[in-house]
Amino acid sequence: QREIHLANRPEGLPSKEDFEFVELDMPSPEENQVLVRTLYLSVDPYMRGRMRDTKSYIAPFPLNKALIGGAVAEVVESRSELFKPGDVVTGYMKWAEYSVVKGEKIRKVDTSIAAVTAYLGILGMTGLTAYFGLLDIGKPQAGETVVVSGAAGAVGSAVGQIAKIKGTKVVGIAGSDEKIDFLINELGFDHAVNYKKDSFQDNLKAALPDGVDVYFDNVGGEVSDAVINLLNKNARIPLCGAISSYNKEEDIGPRIQPALIKTSSLIQGYTVGNYAAEFEKGSADMAKWLQEGKLKFEETIVEGFDNTPDAFIGLFEGANIGKMLVKVADP
Ligand code: NDP
Repeated sequence: QREIHLANRPEGLPSKEDFEFVELDMPSPEENQVLVRTLYLSVDPYMRGRMRDTKSYIAPFPLNKALIGGAVAEVVESRSELFKPGDVVTGYMKWAEYSVVKGEKIRKVDTSIAAVTAYLGILGMTGLTAYFGLLDIGKPQAGETVVVSGAAGAVGSAVGQIAKIKGTKVVGIAGSDEKIDFLINELGFDHAVNYKKDSFQDNLKAALPDGVDVYFDNVGGEVSDAVINLLNKNARIPLCGAISSYNKEEDIGPRIQPALIKTSSLIQGYTVGNYAAEFEKGSADMAKWLQEGKLKFEETIVEGFDNTPDAFIGLFEGANIGKMLVKVADP
């Protein structure tokens, strides 16, 4: 049984040396705990922030301790009356092959709605992030234009599809032609633009003849500068993420204040945890849309626990379409 520890606080793009695989004895559950076998691990950009020793909305990861993230696992041994061996559960768990978790911190997944992996993406944290940021802050109205950056990733691909359900025109921004093709031909986005092309600004403008009413921002930096210059009056900007700065020492904030002032736009940051009291409603809507075929989800699944650091690093290199996951073991 192995765990992955944070060995160093990364500088810039994390490297494999920042992670250490540690061999340990099999843990055993105490009263109200269960021993689980990890099936899938979620790797998420926000975890990069926790690798820094700074004050944030969530505590930094300690050095030389297991990293913790979203996971789906199978109960092997239970000392909780809520679970029995064989149950498939989700929650926050160690990056480990086996771990012990408190019964009240995990929940069973309903595999009749979707495959277990969906609970780490479209029916889990990233789906809810898309749902609440877009609907509560973005407030998209039928006929408006919604732009989403990081569009082919877990949050972005859900945002664009929810915006389509709400009757808006949707333009995605992503970093490869394969992703552009996926957004238009698989997810039904109206347009998608590759930000890595020299012609990005012109292409973006051409895709937005009616300007931008909602800009769902996952990336920040120059991509956001380009979109903010095209805002309509009273535009709304849910500020969800800023992945372009996560490996930099300084944040790259929105630098286009005049455009925000001129258009009386609203820009609001949030974390999905703000909406914890409404998770049940959000999850129910997402599950319903999924079952009705109105939402699709894509995953990039990296095989093998040994490749967890690579999967995490890959997020910052655009290696994923849809949710990036690691398959640790077969159910
Ligand atoms: P994604 O699945 O979108 O994966 C990350 C993607 O970001 C990559 O595939 C890559 O796609 C893109 N990317 C990487 N580096 C850059 C860069 N320098 N500039 C522009 N794009 C880049 O991850 P998630 O969907 O999990 O997360 C998306 C964003 O949402 C992140 O910023 C994350 O921190 C944030 N988030 C916020 C939450 C909240 O509560 N506020 C909760 C969950 C996520 P490409 O090929 O297009 O470059």
